[in-house]
Amino acid sequence: MNHITRRDLLQKASLAAAAARLPVPGLAPPIAQAAPARMSTYEWIRSPRILIAEAYNPPFYPALDYQPAKAVSIARELNADSLRYPSASYFAYFPTKSGYPIHPELKGDPFRETVELCKAAGLRVIAYVPFNHPFMDSTSKDPRYADWSKKHADGKPMTTSHYGYATYYEGCINSPLRDVIRSLVREVLTQYDVDVMYFDGPYQGMNHGRDFCHCKHCQAAYQKRFGKAIPDQDGISREDDVQYQNWLANEVEIGLFKEIREMIRKTRDVPVLFNDTSLLSRREWRAHAAPVADGFMFEAAETPEEKLFNMQLGQSTGKVTWTYVSTHTQYNREHMKDQSMRGWFSYPVESQELLLDGATAIASGAGLVYWGLSRFFYQPESPLAYESGRYVKEIFDFHQKHDTLLRTLKSQPQVGVMVGSQTIDWFTGKHHVSKAYPNYFHGAYRMLKANSYESEPFLDWMTTPELLARYQLVYVPNCACLTDQQCEMLRSYVRRGGMLIATHQTSVADEHGRTRKDFGLADVFGASFIEPEPIEMPDLYLTTPGGDFVPQDPQVMRIRENGGRVLGETFDRGHRATIGPAGTDNKFGDGYAIYIASGFEAVYEETEMPILRTSFGKLFEPLLAAKRSYMLDYQPGLTAHLMASKDTLLLHLLADTGNKNKHLRPREGFLPITGVKLKLRVPSAPKSVSLLRTGEKLSAPHNSGWIEITVPRVLIHEAVQVDLA
Ligand SMILES: [Zn+2]
Repeated sequence: MNHITRRDLLQKASLAAAAARLPVPGLAPPIAQAAPARMSTYEWIRSPRILIAEAYNPPFYPALDYQPAKAVSIARELNADSLRYPSASYFAYFPTKSGYPIHPELKGDPFRETVELCKAAGLRVIAYVPFNHPFMDSTSKDPRYADWSKKHADGKPMTTSHYGYATYYEGCINSPLRDVIRSLVREVLTQYDVDVMYFDGPYQGMNHGRDFCHCKHCQAAYQKRFGKAIPDQDGISREDDVQYQNWLANEVEIGLFKEIREMIRKTRDVPVLFNDTSLLSRREWRAHAAPVADGFMFEAAETPEEKLFNMQLGQSTGKVTWTYVSTHTQYNREHMKDQSMRGWFSYPVESQELLLDGATAIASGAGLVYWGLSRFFYQPESPLAYESGRYVKEIFDFHQKHDTLLRTLKSQPQVGVMVGSQTIDWFTGKHHVSKAYPNYFHGAYRMLKANSYESEPFLDWMTTPELLARYQLVYVPNCACLTDQQCEMLRSYVRRGGMLIATHQTSVADEHGRTRKDFGLADVFGASFIEPEPIEMPDLYLTTPGGDFVPQDPQVMRIRENGGRVLGETFDRGHRATIGPAGTDNKFGDGYAIYIASGFEAVYEETEMPILRTSFGKLFEPLLAAKRSYMLDYQPGLTAHLMASKDTLLLHLLADTGNKNKHLRPREGFLPITGVKLKLRVPSAPKSVSLLRTGEKLSAPHNSGWIEITVPRVLIHEAVQVDLA
């Protein structure tokens, strides 16, 4: 065991410090590196191995136990190539003059010490800078907080929970806090030789992130901009809501981010990334900041499929994407009254999930970020004495070993899956269940994967003709809210020979959820809606021209053909009635479109019924099979992902055969368990031992009243039969 003693640490620290001898960091020339031809930082960020030092928990907060030498030593043992240092969390962790509160136990400058040790060890440093992430403890006597906090209409400050330690005022980005953030960023950038600036935000609240701020600063700014007061959120008109949200998103949050990005470019140009875990969260406007930055991070995902999806969605933007390898702080805490109580931050609590998480991140081509330092900081032994430490190192070692190859590879999507983020933000259809809306785009992606078709999710608001041109087929799963321009891009994509599949309420509304008189894409679908709202009815079937009955989504749009050809009917068995066309297809210009009047991809995501998978496969086969890049028989839990360069094809196989499923009642498939070793107590030496199902005879050495058996394979059920006489 590599037990780290305090003496070891001190020795390492003094050696490293002696080696460092940095000039004044900041605008200093780059330090000569032992390694030849070190890649540029802009190149490096595409595939890093980062260890996070998180400061919302120990060893930074509430007590400040952090030791730079120990942190750098742990990063090296895990084979990270960089460390993320928290310039601030609820407190600042360097002697700042920005006005940000400093941790009361701060001594000296651990930030400077960390940067120097990292540089000496050949590690890069990423500065974590909170961007109006809540930090003001609501029990604090700091008189400035009353001015900086977000306010309800009655003037009461908004508060939020976070990690279970305290309650915090939410900050308003229009208050003088804006200047504190600007100063904090400038200090970090100019006083520390960091390689990357990473922003957590911009936030405008957390628990109350969607509540309008009525503070005097917002009131003054809104009055100046629009000549009126901040609107009352209750019963707000769509027009007022649109105006407020656009102002908040573009002029307040992203406006400040842009200004800060430009300041960094002019002052000391380093890559800028930010936390965009909210990319698909309703009305979290930093989701629209991607064009301002060089890249962003998705934190964790509930399943490997979700992770792969998120990473590809990130990469469709053309930006660098990073992700946690680890489940971060997301443990099951169902029985906790306060859900902000996360359990454990400073314990190596991960499981084999970590390996699958790492493999998924590597397969997707994302940068790896391990959360974090805290898991090993307090442990008595070196990180490698713990399972999760060994797993992190294994992931990082593998990533490093194949670094050159991995950096050249890109995904190879045949299909683009449009993700309706405008629908998430704005759609209020009577039958729209926002919590379950991701089932449409995830279902589309998974159903394609299950039929060996590679796809790439992309964002509605980032759609361009160039992006669409990359795909042989564009799949639009229930994107209710589309702009006229987006409809026109899809229309001309099909007219020029593209293939389109759209489902359910696609294009029933404009980008802000205002219902249209007909589908925005009615001419392309060759179909019109009878009502913009679907109906719900149990026990529906989709009848195909071949006479098959396929379980239909119990929520269907009622449509009539309008230039297209009817593809099957929806049959209501309980009423012995036909509801109408289940879909249409249409030759349009040089291309082809299929419209399906239901959300069968969501039903697949929710049920995993094989009949949906195979029906879908039949629908897609004539369109896509001729150009597919691989074929793999469907197996539950197995996901293939193709990455390729000019010279290499790399087909990743991810086996998610663990025991976690985020959906409550999908139809399950089961994988065999192999090599089940067991001992059975027997009264006497048995005559024979065999398996009841397969009939296989097993060898079973008898030893003092016990036999030992290895069952080679159990698929759902097997039984060991011991015949004694
Ligand atoms: Zn405000």
